[in-house]
Amino acid sequence: MSPSGRVRGEVAVITGASLGIGRACALMLANEGAMIAVTDVLDKEGAALVKEIHQQGGEATYWHLDVSDEAEVTAVMEQVKAKYGSISILVNNAGISGADKPTHEVTSEEWDRLMNVNVKGVFFCTKHVLPQMMKAKRGSIINMSSIYGLIGAADAPPYHASKGAVRLMTKTDAMLYASYGIRVNSIHPGFIWTPMVENFLKSKGDVEAGKKAIGGLHPLGHMGDPDDIAYGVLYLASSESKFVTGSELIIDGGYTAR
Ligand code: NAP
Repeated sequence: MSPSGRVRGEVAVITGASLGIGRACALMLANEGAMIAVTDVLDKEGAALVKEIHQQGGEATYWHLDVSDEAEVTAVMEQVKAKYGSISILVNNAGISGADKPTHEVTSEEWDRLMNVNVKGVFFCTKHVLPQMMKAKRGSIINMSSIYGLIGAADAPPYHASKGAVRLMTKTDAMLYASYGIRVNSIHPGFIWTPMVENFLKSKGDVEAGKKAIGGLHPLGHMGDPDDIAYGVLYLASSESKFVTGSELIIDGGYTAR
């Protein structure tokens, strides 16, 4: 599809943008005219993505950003503003899958590590971007939750808890900042074929068999692609969604429709 500048001139920060869903979001928003702060802990992959965006005629810069480190978050949000101007789009995408054990075997350290990235990371990035958006009286914050933030499954208890938290943080912030013209929405992907899912299946054994089995859990019969989620991000980032806040966009091949 040829780009039509749906987010032209916007300044977007995307966390965990070097790989997977974040990477697809960076490419799509750049293609639609936004200036992109590609942020991640994987510096080599992030730098390569910036190069790719430049080759495609887009604008992007890489920043190393561990979302669980508040000092780093504060510094990067200021640096992005200094380079591109006030941040108008934040995609809180960075996340880890964490310990896949039953609840009674999860350690306190495993619980804290996951919450620090998946929940505190969303809190820190939102907290430090809000002053810029409140001043500008506009902005769109998109939080990557999951189908695991909507329904249970007999695996990954800390991950479920974290994605449920992100769902409600979204609604509270939507209420708190609506009067500033700031919209906050969550996205709930089904299983999407990314390094996160590939590594998870590798840890279980046969990747191809696992891919087929997990794909079969979705009524459409297969896993999604990162672009399936990036299209949703593009919609929520653009003014096409100007009357949408506090909502949950489910993109899951029908997984939760049962
Ligand atoms: P991914 O392939 O693992 O990519 C996530 C990126 O975030 C990686 O580059 C990762 O680096 C980075 N990251 C990890 N911890 C970070 C931190 N503390 N600060 C900054 N960046 C960090 O994951 P994905 O599948 O694209 O998932 C993206 C988001 O979608 C996550 O929030 C995930 O929970 C959510 N989601 C994914 C699926 C799915 O099926 N893929 C489904 C529902 C929701 P490392 O590789 O070093 O960890």
